[in-house]
Amino acid sequence: MTHTELGSVSLEPATDIKELTRGELHSWLQTHGIAAYRAGQILKWIYLRQADTFEAMTDIAKDIRILLSSAFGIRRLEKVSVETSQDGSRKYLFKLHDGNYVETVLIPEKDHHTLCISSQVGCAQGCAFCLTARDGFIRNLTAGEIIAQVRDVSRDTDSINNTEQLRNIVFMGMGEPLANYRNVVAALDIIADNDSGLRFSTRRITVSTAGLVPRLADLGNNTDVRLAVSLNAADNSTRNMLMPINRKYPLEELMEACRNYDMKPRSRITFEYVLIKGINDSPEHAKSLAKLLRSVKGKVNLIPFNEHQGSAFRRPDDSVILQFREILVRNNYTVIVRHSKGQDISAACGQLSAVMRER
Ligand code: SAH
Repeated sequence: MTHTELGSVSLEPATDIKELTRGELHSWLQTHGIAAYRAGQILKWIYLRQADTFEAMTDIAKDIRILLSSAFGIRRLEKVSVETSQDGSRKYLFKLHDGNYVETVLIPEKDHHTLCISSQVGCAQGCAFCLTARDGFIRNLTAGEIIAQVRDVSRDTDSINNTEQLRNIVFMGMGEPLANYRNVVAALDIIADNDSGLRFSTRRITVSTAGLVPRLADLGNNTDVRLAVSLNAADNSTRNMLMPINRKYPLEELMEACRNYDMKPRSRITFEYVLIKGINDSPEHAKSLAKLLRSVKGKVNLIPFNEHQGSAFRRPDDSVILQFREILVRNNYTVIVRHSKGQDISAACGQLSAVMRER
């Protein structure tokens, strides 16, 4: 049957209401003669009460519910699998409605959980050490798909116990968030909405970037989230080799953008540095990192390289990692060595993939 034969009935899946910004929802309601305050009510049902149907929204008049049901759906991601690591990390594999896959990782901390979410299917940045880079860029996630990772996993964790409370969100999964700027910012608007959204504090949301310089200022000006920058090298020739984006936006420009980044007075940028054996892990590298960061308000996260199939890179020995850390500490930096969780289930940094290749 063709679309015309069906008359007014559409074969397209209903628009996911999570794709609408608050403004768009307001104008849709207005166009249909419905008071704007209903938007808050509807959003609360979706995000705070985790409603799956408009039918469930019992304090909204029946005719409005019917109208909403005819125009929109409230989608969930299709949960294909959840793998649990020995350390308690859980990797969710979600199937999107167009058949693509995305991974989201729930990481246990002492008294809460951190959720590592994806912003794109695949990635265009081509970083030499990252598995996601091998997929190439497939597509941007929509705002609704970004929000859904948080909404759907929250529902899972809420039902278990308090220590599982989901409190931090990091955009450190698949993709380059600043290359999908519009959708990421639209998603943040709901994730950090303290009234009718998902109610995450902006202090507990971190956007991590490979260094898309022109978008850095926008993020600082338009949001209050924390910024993490994947540095991985303190000189242009090493960084060019590891991260092709450095050829376009070299360290001088990146550091300038970091110095100008608009953030709260006591806030600091997190600089991530993946330590790779024989590539960027020598005492000289540590010293030049200390020098490079002198002019910025930053702290350092060292991530020992997570090995993955097909990569010749190796993780440095523990003594080398400690020595690297020591040099930064002596230079008065706050340094955390991030021992990636979930390695046994390929859920660690740089081990996520949109392609079923290694499963
Ligand atoms: N595109 C964004 C976010 C995704 S990568 C960014 O570049 O920041 C998240 C972090 O994982 C980055 O700091 C990256 O340097 C790190 N990473 C990627 N592959 C890794 C690997 N194999 N081992 C350890 N860390 C890795």
